[in-house]
Amino acid sequence: MSLKFGRTQLAIPGPSVIPERVLGAMHRPSPNIYAGELVEMTESIVPDLKAVARTKHQATIYISNGHGVWEAALRNTLIPGDKVLVLGTGRFAEGWASMAKSIGVEVELVNFGMEACADPDVLEETLRKDSKGDIRAVMMVQTDTASSVINDVAACRQAIDRANHNALFMVDCIASLACDRFEMDEWGVDVTVSACQKGLMTPAGLGFIYFNDKAAGAKKRTSPGEYWDWDLRAEPEIFYQRFDGTAPTHHLYGLRAALDILVHEEGIENVWTRHKTIAHSVWSAIDAWGTSGSISHNIQDRAIRSHAVSTVNMSDGNAAKLRSWTEENAGLTLGIGLGFPEADFGNHFRIGHMGHQNLPMVMGVLGTIDAALKALDIPHGDGALDAASKVLAAHPAA
Ligand SMILES: *Cc1c(COP(=O)(O)O)cnc(C)c1O
Repeated sequence: MSLKFGRTQLAIPGPSVIPERVLGAMHRPSPNIYAGELVEMTESIVPDLKAVARTKHQATIYISNGHGVWEAALRNTLIPGDKVLVLGTGRFAEGWASMAKSIGVEVELVNFGMEACADPDVLEETLRKDSKGDIRAVMMVQTDTASSVINDVAACRQAIDRANHNALFMVDCIASLACDRFEMDEWGVDVTVSACQKGLMTPAGLGFIYFNDKAAGAKKRTSPGEYWDWDLRAEPEIFYQRFDGTAPTHHLYGLRAALDILVHEEGIENVWTRHKTIAHSVWSAIDAWGTSGSISHNIQDRAIRSHAVSTVNMSDGNAAKLRSWTEENAGLTLGIGLGFPEADFGNHFRIGHMGHQNLPMVMGVLGTIDAALKALDIPHGDGALDAASKVLAAHPAA
């Protein structure tokens, strides 16, 4: 018999849970798209987007998902035949690399695997070998949503500087923006790409590119085409140019509400701290389950775990069974395993704990997983909920 007939919960690493206030803000008639409230509201969104990424440089909004801004960032900085270095730490860095190949860019992929972060020393060494400066850009993800690793963006910047290399530094923050600390300017990132449906809690459909003066300089040799061109989006002469066409009206109302919550009410530093405590509570539950049977963290070292998503490893196809049980019997959808060998997919699941999350939501997810382990007779250690609630009670996590 099913217990799923309450409010369903999506605990995948994006799209994330949409706040009622964001949904409510979108529930309205279409506005005038040329003047008035929509125009003023959009101009108010841009500085808040910059505040979230901690940059004083340019912020642009595209009507697209993450893949769209992946491509736009490449088209504004590179031309066919250019070479890039991609730091591979799972499915998402590789996805961006294949996007680069699709527009004729040569890719050197240094693969660190599914259980480790990018090694800044290897980055430095690789750049030192490029004595002619053929590598135009270094591309990486901050959080790889498949492995749930977080990369040390600041350390990678320092590695580029130590190698005295001129490559642009481009970072995908789609799974990490407004979840984990990110400091675009302080850390020396030249191009940041992100999207609205993860930490920014807005229905999928908006992508963001931030770029600094160095990246603007790189654009001079490219011809991205009118729609992808970031110049008028960053500094439009008339509003219509910000989106090269009709504005994403209702998404903008939703995003305005999300930024009110994140930037003006909770405060971005508090948002990071909340994600940290919630992540630590999830980890402590996984630790407890793992004391017996074969449940474990995909990323062993706590220091390189994302605060937005946790990838859990199991055996005997139990992760697939667990996901089906929670969806069919409890109204909880967990993330599938991604980026692992296909035969191994059923042994991994992911818990998305990004965005609009508070204690009842987190304890609800962990309690539901705990019930599923019991219902399915999957061997596991006791005390997961006790461990998790202790961490939550001690907020902020150390
Ligand atoms: C979700 C995600 C993407 C892809 O975003 P889409 O909106 O699905 O195109 C890219 N990179 C990372 C790190 C992500 O988490």
